[in-house]
Amino acid sequence: MAAAAKAPAPARAIQASRSGRNSNKGGVASLALAWLQLALTYDNARTAVFLVVVVRYLDRLLRHLKVYGLTASLHQVYRAISARAFALLLKTPAAKRKVNRELRDAMKDVEAKIVPRPKHIESQHRLPVLGKETEWLRSELAKLQKMEAGGVDANTVATLWQMRDGQSVWKDGKVSGAVYHGGDDLSDLVSETIKAFLLTNPLHPDVFPGVRKMEAEVVQMALRMYNAPETGAGATSSGGTESILLACLAMREWGRRTKGITEPELVVPVSVHAAFDKASTYFGIKIHHIPVDPVTRKVKLGRVARAINRNTIGLVGSAPNFPDGVIDDIPSLGVLAKKHNILLHVDCCLGSFLVPFLEKAGFPSEPFDFRVEGVTSISCDTHKYGFGPKGLSTILYRTSELRRFQYYVKTDWPGGVYATPTLSGSRPGSIIAGTWTAMMKLGESGYTQSCRDIVGAAKTIASRIETEVPDLYVLGKPLVSVVAFASRPGTTVSIYDVGDGMSARGWHMNGLSGDISAIHIAVTRLTVPVVDEFISDLKQVTAEARKKAGKKEGGKEGSMKALYGLGTGVSAGMVIGELASRFIDTLYLV
Ligand SMILES: *Cc1c(COP(=O)(O)O)cnc(C)c1O
Repeated sequence: MAAAAKAPAPARAIQASRSGRNSNKGGVASLALAWLQLALTYDNARTAVFLVVVVRYLDRLLRHLKVYGLTASLHQVYRAISARAFALLLKTPAAKRKVNRELRDAMKDVEAKIVPRPKHIESQHRLPVLGKETEWLRSELAKLQKMEAGGVDANTVATLWQMRDGQSVWKDGKVSGAVYHGGDDLSDLVSETIKAFLLTNPLHPDVFPGVRKMEAEVVQMALRMYNAPETGAGATSSGGTESILLACLAMREWGRRTKGITEPELVVPVSVHAAFDKASTYFGIKIHHIPVDPVTRKVKLGRVARAINRNTIGLVGSAPNFPDGVIDDIPSLGVLAKKHNILLHVDCCLGSFLVPFLEKAGFPSEPFDFRVEGVTSISCDTHKYGFGPKGLSTILYRTSELRRFQYYVKTDWPGGVYATPTLSGSRPGSIIAGTWTAMMKLGESGYTQSCRDIVGAAKTIASRIETEVPDLYVLGKPLVSVVAFASRPGTTVSIYDVGDGMSARGWHMNGLSGDISAIHIAVTRLTVPVVDEFISDLKQVTAEARKKAGKKEGGKEGSMKALYGLGTGVSAGMVIGELASRFIDTLYLV
């Protein structure tokens, strides 16, 4: 800091030169030379570097203020300081002991639930010395398939991660999202296909030409579904997350190679999938989360515009988003993207094989695909409403030049020239083949019908909540399969009590912790036949929650309420973060 207080370097240099060389008539040139010599001293260089750093930080600070405004920025500073303080506090032995004890207790419940160790199934800790008999394997596999999650008392955080798996649970249609079942006939056909292509690997197109053909066709069919122009190009990936990672990677590389952007920034609605944050972390992209309108649930366009600067590589919109199933205003995002010469990705991972069929199925829709100018890439999951086997998605681009930015090529690898289109090396040809089968089997007619059934059921749920459950209201205007709902302002009903009540009746709902506390259901084919049961349960559970709220002591808290009741404060965030990591650790216990 001291350097800044001194007289500016050029001024001092000039003073020195004047006093030293007054007699010299060399004039301006020698004066300039002397100025330069003196200006290049260590001290001055240090001042100059300091000034450059200050200017850069100021520039960053101003850009940050432009995106978030003063109040929100101050709040962020406050949060950052509290996080530091809380982290320090947690380091004290007493606090460490207390937190550890509580987390351990919570994790005991989680472990009991998701790592059940039933007596009749052996645990395997090492390779069998001698390979097992086929008969033994068949019987063991049958047991594993029927294995149920451990029973624990209702007041456990485990239910939050909805690990009550086992076939019987999802088959009755009470699970939100998770299982995208295309019907038993389709499942049989896809299984046959997977068996036939079990050992194939598209990394070797010369060895498996049939798989290469099927992959190209899956991508081409998806491009057509999303009305890509003739220049359109795409690839398959291992799932929606990988498609999003690839889209972000391509954006970053596009920004670097065509605009020289070295500190890339991405502007996304708060409602986008967490995979964009994952991409930001993995690929060193700064991400700006823009709030959504509290009523429409669409991203606030004015705030998006304010967040764009010379480092921005692209924008993102969802069609629809995961939390409340709303489609962002894609045409307006497209206008912004074009105006600033940046890219626009539309996340249709969830919309997948529903949004392209909304109009054909007779439902209202909003523009979301390549027909919207400015849209440069789209992610579409075949393993969601495409009813393909898990482990496949597509990433689609407006041009093949854009697709190039996600490729990886290494020409001097000792193992030979190495080039892959996506994150993986070897890939499962069987999953691609299974997806091709599902798409060919259903066709436009099949997907239009499934859209009619699924979106129809979602619409029924939304309108019946609005008319029959006065304590609740539906967020935004959901056009696709997700219906999110919250407690109406003024009622005493806690929406998380409702979530816990539904959970007690076997429903697996998703808790949402955004600006509005809410829960949602993602309707699948399995939900369609149980809509009446859902509404009837929801009515009863809401009535119970109202009674509970009336009493002073609400009794035992349910797990959803316990977790989301912690709020979104700094300390809650850190505790939940630790809990989540321990949860992942638990997944690898034998
Ligand atoms: C499911 C989903 C994704 C991707 O999820 P994966 O589990 O990786 O397939 C992305 N965006 C939205 C909106 C989603 O619902």
